[in-house]
Amino acid sequence: MKITIAGSGAMGCRFGGALFSAGHQVVLLDGWREHVDAINASGLRIDDVDGSQVMRVPARPFPAPAEPADLVIVFTKATATAAVAAAAAAAIGSSTLVLTLQNGLGNIEVLRSYVPETRLLAGTTTLGTELLGPGHIRALGSGETVLGALGPASSEYPERLVLTLSAAGLPARVADDTLGVIWAKVAFNCVMNTLCAIASIPVSALGRYDGFDELASSILAEVAAVARAEGVYVDKAAALRLMKAQFDPSASGSHLASTLQDLMNGRRTEIAHLNGAIAARAAEHGLDAPLNALITRLIQLLEATWPERVNRLHPDTQ
Ligand code: NAD
Repeated sequence: MKITIAGSGAMGCRFGGALFSAGHQVVLLDGWREHVDAINASGLRIDDVDGSQVMRVPARPFPAPAEPADLVIVFTKATATAAVAAAAAAAIGSSTLVLTLQNGLGNIEVLRSYVPETRLLAGTTTLGTELLGPGHIRALGSGETVLGALGPASSEYPERLVLTLSAAGLPARVADDTLGVIWAKVAFNCVMNTLCAIASIPVSALGRYDGFDELASSILAEVAAVARAEGVYVDKAAALRLMKAQFDPSASGSHLASTLQDLMNGRRTEIAHLNGAIAARAAEHGLDAPLNALITRLIQLLEATWPERVNRLHPDTQ
């Protein structure tokens, strides 16, 4: 297949590298010039538990050339989906499939302007990946991708993409309920990602807080109410169980949530597409989501003030 990766940070490079290795014609599109140049000059370096390999995947700066791809995978942060979709539009032709596995709400709505719903697929992935520097990523542990169609009409596209990803060593399966899968991950991130970022702690440390169940359940109740207003069921008990399973250091206990990593690196977080989207959509549906609104404000406060954060106790108080 001719595959264009629209937004080739950690995840775009992981998927693009695997699909390239499997023999597909892949182009990594990205807006970070140094990263694109490094990939073209020295190849894409992917580290994993087995060592390190270099792949000669071609990379290009945006915008995409006017050559329709068979598949466009959108893998930018949710904050950049609108800009990236516009810059990749020339790669979307009359038979191109578009897939988003991004976190957060709002990506599907943006992409609907560029591709009919019948050729738009969406889902989530639990494959963790870090961007170590220009042209260099680290593939973390195991995980799976769950994807599906959005429209009511059944099609063979989800099965076809699942086979393509699986054959490239990216475990995947078809979602029974695509929006349910996306909302379940949103619910997870609205609690785990943002609380870890506010407290500036790894995931396992959250498990030491004895008020976790009550706080998580209250945030989840707001998320589930907004989901329900949009016709999507979020299983609160299952979401809470999944969260608590992450406290085990052998799960993702020592992992730093992406919102915390973004704050540490002085980058914009995806908060507007997580708790921020819940607060905004709650208002549209005439619901209240005060906890999600407050969490959004707190993360925005951290985004605005992070460089001045006091990290150590003053010597006089130690
Ligand atoms: P990323 O931060 O690695 O890359 C996003 C964009 O930021 C890319 O265009 C990248 O080139 C650019 N960028 C990164 N570092 C930069 C720097 N120092 N200077 C300039 N530009 C820079 O994003 P990601 O982790 O690949 O996430 C993409 C989507 O996938 C998001 O919605 C995310 O929530 C989701 N996701 C990520 C993971 C993960 O483990 N990384 C797992 C599941 C889902």
